[in-house]
Amino acid sequence: MATDPLERAREEFLAALAAAGRDAARVEAVRVRFAGRRSGLLRDLEEALKTLPREAKPAYGKALNELKKLVEERLAAAQAQAEAAGRRPQALDVTLPGRRPRVGALHPVTLVRREIEEIFLRMGYSVADGPEAEDDWHNFEALNFPPDHPARDSQDTFFLAGGRLLRTHTSPVQIRTMETTPPPIRVIIPGRVYRCDSDLRHSPMFHQVEGLAVGEGITFANLKATLEAFVHVLFDPRLAVRFRPSFFPFTEPSAEVDITCVLCLGKGCPMCSGSGWIEILGAGMVDPRVLRACNLDPERYSGFAFGCGLDRVALLKYRLPDLRLLFAGDERLLRQFEGVAR
Ligand SMILES: [Zn+2]
Repeated sequence: MATDPLERAREEFLAALAAAGRDAARVEAVRVRFAGRRSGLLRDLEEALKTLPREAKPAYGKALNELKKLVEERLAAAQAQAEAAGRRPQALDVTLPGRRPRVGALHPVTLVRREIEEIFLRMGYSVADGPEAEDDWHNFEALNFPPDHPARDSQDTFFLAGGRLLRTHTSPVQIRTMETTPPPIRVIIPGRVYRCDSDLRHSPMFHQVEGLAVGEGITFANLKATLEAFVHVLFDPRLAVRFRPSFFPFTEPSAEVDITCVLCLGKGCPMCSGSGWIEILGAGMVDPRVLRACNLDPERYSGFAFGCGLDRVALLKYRLPDLRLLFAGDERLLRQFEGVAR
């Protein structure tokens, strides 16, 4: 029959389109092969019409038109499906567990700072802050480090342009507080400090926390009770506190403060070099010259001050062996503090 080539073309087209599925490129290849304007199979079949005997033409022409319509409709549907498939996102498996958002961790120094602040806030202190770029008056002179005083040598200072310097301790905030706040004063002062000093046990930037209490009738006994309470809450109520005479320009008398070794509780271990004690704080009664520099009358007011290295407290608190761990930014360390909220 003359329409046989049309029937074969129809079957071929449907098979090719089914094989192309929803792949846009393969659907397009099918279109070119069958309905392409220059060399498509439909065009060849149309050409064949001209060579047919006259009586065969009507049936062939009718079948050819039906085939063209079918090809057109099926191609349009396949193209629409292929386009939709291209837009659809990757298959979603709703049974998979959700992805946990990564929560960052607070740095151990931040944790310890917040804990110390909290302890003193409960004792009626407030948190004070001051500039890291200081002047000579607040960092040295008002704290009873006169010019050429040898005690200045112990603080290797970074000097800035214009006579300013990076504060070598948090003590200038004591001065700023006493200059601006009438007694009674109770402040805790955490912050970054800077010294030109870098070796295994020192970093050019480190953290201190200081406390200051000024009022009428404040004695060394108040200092001792305050520090004992602090150490017992921060570390362990079993720890003893002992004071050894020492010297700081801004306190008189001054003391180094030791606590029972937090690791061996006094038995002696490598961390305390077998002594059972760990040096942790410096403290003393505010020197009358410092009170006078802040326009406070030493006959009326007295006070105590104490300070310690926050980094060292963090090492003791979290049993870290090396100061440099705190500043290395190693995620393996920091991740261990995830979920320790303060
Ligand atoms: Zn020990």
